[in-house]
Amino acid sequence: MYKAFLIKYAEIGIKGKNRFLFEDALVRQIRYALRNVDGEFNVHKQQGRVFVETLGDYDYDETIEALSHVFGITGICPAVMVEDQGFDQLAKDVVAYMNKIYPDKNLTFKVKARRARKNYPMDSMELNAELGGRILDAFPEMKVDVHNPDVMLYVEIREQISFYSEEIPGPGGMPVGTNGSAMLLLSGGIDSPVAGYMVSKRGVSIDATYFHAPPYTSERAKQKVVDLAKEISVYTGPIRLHIVNFTDIQLAIYEKCPHEELTIIMRRYMMKIAEHFAKQDGCLGLVTGESIGQVASQTMQSLAATNEVCTMPVYRPLIGFDKQEIVEVSEKIGTYETSILPYEDCCTIFVAKHPVTKPNIKVIKKSEEKLAEVIDDLMKEAIESVETIQVEA
Ligand code: ATP
Ligand code: MG
Repeated sequence: MYKAFLIKYAEIGIKGKNRFLFEDALVRQIRYALRNVDGEFNVHKQQGRVFVETLGDYDYDETIEALSHVFGITGICPAVMVEDQGFDQLAKDVVAYMNKIYPDKNLTFKVKARRARKNYPMDSMELNAELGGRILDAFPEMKVDVHNPDVMLYVEIREQISFYSEEIPGPGGMPVGTNGSAMLLLSGGIDSPVAGYMVSKRGVSIDATYFHAPPYTSERAKQKVVDLAKEISVYTGPIRLHIVNFTDIQLAIYEKCPHEELTIIMRRYMMKIAEHFAKQDGCLGLVTGESIGQVASQTMQSLAATNEVCTMPVYRPLIGFDKQEIVEVSEKIGTYETSILPYEDCCTIFVAKHPVTKPNIKVIKKSEEKLAEVIDDLMKEAIESVETIQVEA
């Protein structure tokens, strides 16, 4: 019975003169999200609202599911849309709607009309009163409650007339594409996919870099990361994923540097290489899944040491999250089950028994000098042998 969805958005409504840019991005992202959904849709703006109109048959659940992944949407309201055929017809349609949606008539309601088309013969106060009256006539068990109604029935008069009373929550945030792009360091763990989701939620599109160490890490570990990228791309849109062979760099570090510094030094080279691809892709920052104190390589000192090699801003959206909070988001967005698959990560293979927790940058740099003869070539090789794939849900 729903021929349309009225899309509610919050923050993007307050951007002044830029408002239309945000609305256009929202429309674009909605069209993209619906591209594989069964049905044909017309997504358009109309007087400060975004509508998804359905053309013919469509799959309701799939549509809601797709829309609930579009950042920028705060609410999805399945709406009835009718042509203006006079008040009597409207009242009949509204009564039929109430009858169908609320089989149990024992409820309180309030009509909230909005006359966006000013040449409509009744104003919103009259519409509220008259439509409320017709509903009460039809269903004597229903009662009006203007303060705390069970059902708020919105009626909006534009070129066409739409009414709705249900709102399914959207993910919030801002439409992807309104805030540039960032390079996510994506591993197979729980944290980095969540970090990518969080940054993307603010309107940032995502590219990703993954470091693996074949044959020490398997093809399945790599596939896991591709799967994670695919899972977050439901929200972020297509992801360009760079898969970097890190084995030789890691072996060189293992061979030449103090073992308790392995992870930090490795991280520093990961950041450098990720930054290379970030620049190449026109990204404005790096994103990691780090959180203060989670492991030895994420103490304040360790983060400072990793950060030191970057010239771009590094965004760490999980910085103040506890693990449990991160897990909750990963369950919500659907990456958790993939993240906990037990495949080896390149960092866990060459891990030291007693990693430094308070690395001193000067000491780390001194250790890195031992790599001087080989590291430039190894970095160049890692960059040149990159495998880049486009990941899309
Ligand atoms: P995650 O769950 O994201 O793997 P983690 O708790 O395992 O995080 P670390 O292994 O210390 O933490 O990694 C910290 C961050 O460094 C990750 O969140 C990710 O952004 C980046 N990172 C770690 N390993 C890799 C990798 N193999 N490829 C790309 N990025 C990585
Ligand atoms: Mg990890």
